[in-house]
Amino acid sequence: MTPEDYIKREQEIVEAQKAYPGREMGNAYRLWKELRGEKANILVTGDKNIEAVKHTLKEAAKKPCTQPGCDGEMTLESVCGGCVEGKAGFLSKWTCSKCLFRELSKKDFLTWLRELSLTS
Ligand SMILES: [Zn+2]
Repeated sequence: MTPEDYIKREQEIVEAQKAYPGREMGNAYRLWKELRGEKANILVTGDKNIEAVKHTLKEAAKKPCTQPGCDGEMTLESVCGGCVEGKAGFLSKWTCSKCLFRELSKKDFLTWLRELSLTS
């Protein structure tokens, strides 16, 4: 599995949850895939390859702080729809762990991850 495959799967899960609200996540995902004639991609916990992919993505979701004079690190997070940021139309944010400077973005978390993992 590549980071690209992993992100694709995450996006499918988001779609599946939208299609079947209230259903258990794994269940919704399997059903969603079945309707498309595809097999659900079940991840095995502790699988070395998957752990490596997760690590790559975690590293891709970091960048040096953009504030002058700060040597902190910013981490990408998704914004929940019910939060103030979410209500204002933002989908993700970079937050510096040192100065707490935040950069809001209208690009969603998975789109960011895909771009970052492809360029890193
Ligand atoms: Zn900072």
